[in-house]
Amino acid sequence: KLHNTIQELKGNIRVFCRVRPPLPEDEKEGAGEPPILQYPTSAELAGRGVELVPAAGPKYPFAFDKVFGPEAPQAEVFQEISMLVQSALDGYKVCIFAYGQTGSGKTHTMLGVPQPAEARGMIPRSLEQIFQASQHLEAQGWTFTMQASMLEIYNESLRDLLVPASAQKDKAADAGGKAHAIKHDAQGNTTVADLTLVEVATWHEVELMMQKAAQSRTVGRTAMNERSSRSHCVFTLRIAGSNETTEQTVNGVLNLIDLAGSERLSRSGATGDRLKETQAINKSLSCLGDVISAIANRDAHVPYRNSKLTYLLQPCLGGDSKTLMFVNIAPDRSSFNESLCSLRFAAKVN
Ligand code: ADP
Ligand code: MG
Repeated sequence: KLHNTIQELKGNIRVFCRVRPPLPEDEKEGAGEPPILQYPTSAELAGRGVELVPAAGPKYPFAFDKVFGPEAPQAEVFQEISMLVQSALDGYKVCIFAYGQTGSGKTHTMLGVPQPAEARGMIPRSLEQIFQASQHLEAQGWTFTMQASMLEIYNESLRDLLVPASAQKDKAADAGGKAHAIKHDAQGNTTVADLTLVEVATWHEVELMMQKAAQSRTVGRTAMNERSSRSHCVFTLRIAGSNETTEQTVNGVLNLIDLAGSERLSRSGATGDRLKETQAINKSLSCLGDVISAIANRDAHVPYRNSKLTYLLQPCLGGDSKTLMFVNIAPDRSSFNESLCSLRFAAKVN
């Protein structure tokens, strides 16, 4: 097994902060104002400190395992996660989350855009690395089977993103959150009832699968963006490897999760479905924070069962599995309060 010594010293949970560059609309709004984010340059904090600067009064300082400023290219970010990704091929269970308010850069970090190649995010880069490395291992007598799935958790119900919305099996059960029952066996293998698993061996196959997932959504583009900010999107790669000569086997899992937007949705106007939705998002994000901090604190009880997301990922969170959370931050002053909430959340799980 490959070992990352720094990680072993620090335990299996890491938090990286990434601040996106200003967008044209942010520039207009904040013209002439001092920046709301600063990066300490002291020997101790360089590269891992960030300070949130209010209009008046003292700064709010934070430190993480790594802080990426607005100039950090995707390649530099990937460089810092490539060992972690590689460990899935060694049989570890890995979760990589992107947390942050809508518009803070979660999808850019996880998926990016296909062109230019430099803008590709962590998902394509991770899969390409895994497929490449597995080919090298196959030359040494290993055989791998890799299966990919994509699901969405919305209002505490799971939906298979590889099945068109029009063909979803049991709408009534889905609405009650009962479709796609989750089961874990003693070895930590998870099965989700009726979830489509696609055998993949190249990034291109995964890309086609993701395109199908996008097409199969019957909702329009605006509605889709709206919905994607209110649901968690979980991409999972299950890796089963065996070596006939040495009789070794590995069972790794790589989960890449684009979380629902963390913004506090206005409570005042929310009623009915919207209120239920808001409560579901808040509950599941705070459950995730509770689970990660319980693991980090080595608490005797980890409250996995309090949300669908943490229950689904239970075997991949804690134990000897590895977790990385990106906290994505928008750099505009109007996001100050959301940024403070996100940084505090991330500091709590770090
Ligand atoms: P989220 O998924 O958190 O809602 P997005 O990833 O869609 O946010 O990012 C919002 C906008 O900012 C998009 O237009 C995206 O391309 C851009 N963006 C985000 N992060 C970066 C970055 N690091 N570099 C360049 N553009 C970025
Ligand atoms: Mg997004």
